Amino acid sequence: MGYRDMVGLSVDVDEAQRADWADHLHTCRLCGDWYQEQQVRDRGDDPSRFPCVHIAYRVTFECSEHDDPWDCPDCVLVYSGKFDEYGIPVRDGGPSMISIQFCPWCGVELPRSRRDQWFETLAALGYRDPEDENIPEAFQSEEWWRART
Ligand SMILES: [Zn+2]
Ligand SMILES: [Zn+2]
Ligand SMILES: [Zn+2]
Repeated sequence: MGYRDMVGLSVDVDEAQRADWADHLHTCRLCGDWYQEQQVRDRGDDPSRFPCVHIAYRVTFECSEHDDPWDCPDCVLVYSGKFDEYGIPVRDGGPSMISIQFCPWCGVELPRSRRDQWFETLAALGYRDPEDENIPEAFQSEEWWRART
C-alpha cells in the first residue's frame, strides 16, 4: 500500500491502521515532511517558494471557519508580505505577532525581516508616519520589495 493511500485520500484503511499512521506521522520526520508537502500542493501552493516545508505547511493553512488567522486557534504561524517576516500571532485583539528568525521545526534560517527597510524606504519618500499615512499600495504587500530584488 502506498503512502498516499494510507493518508486516507482514497482506499479503505481501518481505524486502527489510520491511528497507527497518524502516530507515525507525528514521530517520523521523513513521513511528516512528506505529508506536509503534499498538503501544501493540495492547497495549490508550491512548497519550494518557502524557506522549508514546515513553514510552507503552516502559513498556507486556511481555516474554513475563520477568515482572519488571528481568530483561528489552529493557526500557529503567519506571514507578513510587506515585512517579509514570519511570526507567531499574538491574540490580544490587535494584529501583532512575535517574529521568528528560524523555523521552529527544523531550525532553518528564515529571510531577514524587511521591517526596517520598509520604514527607511518610506521615510526616503517623505513618509514620517507610514503606518498612519496614505502610503502607496505596493507597500501594503510584498510588492514593494519584490520589485527591487
Ligand atoms: Zn516514516
Ligand atoms: Zn479556525
Ligand atoms: Zn522547517
